Amino acid sequence: MSLVNKTLGIIGAGQLGMMLTEAAKKKGLKTIVLDPNPFSPAFRVADDYINRSFSDLDAVIELCERSDIVTYEFENVDDEIISEVSEKYCIPQGNKPLYYSKNRLREKRLANTCHIPTAPFQSVRRKEDLIKGLKQFGYPCILKTTEDGYDGKGQFLIHSEEDLPGAYEFINIHCMLMECILEKVVPFDFEVSTISFRSLDDSFTMLPIVRNIHQNGILNITIAPASLSLIQEKKIKEASRAFMEQNNFYGIMTIEFFVLGDDIYFNEMAPRPHNSGHYSIEACPYSQYDLLIMSLLGEKLPEKIEVTPCIMKNILGKNMWFVEKIKKMNLKDVYIHMYNKKDVMPNRKMGHITFLGYDLETYKNNIEKDI
Ligand code: AMP
Repeated sequence: MSLVNKTLGIIGAGQLGMMLTEAAKKKGLKTIVLDPNPFSPAFRVADDYINRSFSDLDAVIELCERSDIVTYEFENVDDEIISEVSEKYCIPQGNKPLYYSKNRLREKRLANTCHIPTAPFQSVRRKEDLIKGLKQFGYPCILKTTEDGYDGKGQFLIHSEEDLPGAYEFINIHCMLMECILEKVVPFDFEVSTISFRSLDDSFTMLPIVRNIHQNGILNITIAPASLSLIQEKKIKEASRAFMEQNNFYGIMTIEFFVLGDDIYFNEMAPRPHNSGHYSIEACPYSQYDLLIMSLLGEKLPEKIEVTPCIMKNILGKNMWFVEKIKKMNLKDVYIHMYNKKDVMPNRKMGHITFLGYDLETYKNNIEKDI
């Protein structure tokens, strides 16, 4: 496809939309983004923006009218709106990945259909479902909302019978609106994520598998690449590829897995660039943003993506001091990305730092001891 005067439309203009916009510009594409937040990070870098709601059908149509290709950086976009507009406009990923990713029960059932294991789970609508699930799975378990939960929000850990009153209250509050999901806690050794790409020409590639360390349910550190055994690596790669190909998904797909010995468990999917892929901007010849754009344009994807080992540290509002500390250290091969968000909140993602050439040990010895 000739890129002259072509426009990429992006639903969502947060930091992911901002970095996607920057990659699109590098490729010679124009960009237009849609977001209800007037201070969205991507508004400053995109060629144009629409400051309206994601659920405003007319706003989505306007974005599509003014774009040649449309993608999303945010999975809580109304999949019914995307389904409607994708009949007329070019939205190569379509609404199907959104339909699944917005609901924890649906995405886990889909993984199981592709023979990808998940933690044992069941739907919970009332107390009796919870009791039945706990009897079957044993303690500990996690009760989660099926929709709108992210970064560990909307979750309740059940260690023992003592937590039952709290669990019943969780059900009373959340099951009024929709069913919840009960999952057995996987005593994982570590967590990893994969970011896979399928181009419209059917070529497929993956960024290296990375290891993720969370703090209070929010990503803190990504270690690229993850050190895995051959069997772990094979299982995770095969599952990631099968998930995209068997479901006929195009574009980008992030999957988070738990790893326990040689066993892997699918936890979550996200059909958009992911926080755990930011490191690829400096550490790989193609970033997750470059690869998404190539996929949407139908370009042939490179079979293997090399990586310079690195550590990515997420900067939340409460650790802005850390940025100052790193700046003062004046280190080589350290890349600070700030998203220029207006309001600083303790758990809001404000930026990230990539420490190129660092492994976990070097990072702990030189930068941060306790992670
Ligand atoms: P989620 O929002 O489902 O990604 O959950 C946030 C974090 O909670 C995950 O990254 C895990 O660290 C932890 N977690 C969620 N579900 C489970 C589970 N079934 N077993 C063990 N840990 C879990």
